[in-house]
Amino acid sequence: MRLDKFVSHATGMPRDVAKRAVRKKSVTVNGETIKNAAQQVSPEDVITLNNRQIELRGPRYIMLHKPAGYVCATEDGDHPIVLDLLDEDSTGLSIAGRLDLDTTGLVLLTDDGQWLHRVISPKRECHKVYEVQLQEPVSPETIEQFTQGILLRGEDKPTMPAVCVALPDNAAVVTLSEGRYHQVKRMFAACGNHVVALHRRQIGSVALGTDLPEGEFRDLTPEEVASFLS
Ligand code: URA
Repeated sequence: MRLDKFVSHATGMPRDVAKRAVRKKSVTVNGETIKNAAQQVSPEDVITLNNRQIELRGPRYIMLHKPAGYVCATEDGDHPIVLDLLDEDSTGLSIAGRLDLDTTGLVLLTDDGQWLHRVISPKRECHKVYEVQLQEPVSPETIEQFTQGILLRGEDKPTMPAVCVALPDNAAVVTLSEGRYHQVKRMFAACGNHVVALHRRQIGSVALGTDLPEGEFRDLTPEEVASFLS
């Protein structure tokens, strides 16, 4: 592999930036400063950038417990972003299914484009489970409307059948198999109710569980990663 490609893959920096770093003598291979970005290197070589060893790493798959007040975006002028919560280099990470600023719960992040597609592609109908706190009790009519599909304002296709289970104290658990903009809030609004609080607890078979406090993150297990591939 070319040296600039190695530096780019190991650090996540774009290829042209990696090439410039090599030309500026910031990179060594086995202790020797190399200026030729096209030099061939192998994983056995010891490579440093600015005097720190860099290594090729595999794709990353992360679950994050999003607190309210963080934006699911890679940049935002007004609010902190979810990537700020990662205490590691977030270069190249994408968010697999965004949550609103005030929504809490499970967010998946990855730099593996194919895996991302499997999680968010509407064709795969990946289930998302939400805990919802409402202003009014959930009526049997609302449950029926969720099952039948709801034509949301400004859209031309009704929502796919969704499951809404009513709980005591104006709470509900909703399972969706698609991810439209503000979908849960708009579906309840269309039924004459109002979402007071929203929390995503599960995507596919990956659940947030109780062991990951708000604001914390962890790598997905190999089984969790594989669960989206079947
Ligand atoms: N539906 C919403 O309305 N908001 C979210 O953040 C997620 C789903």
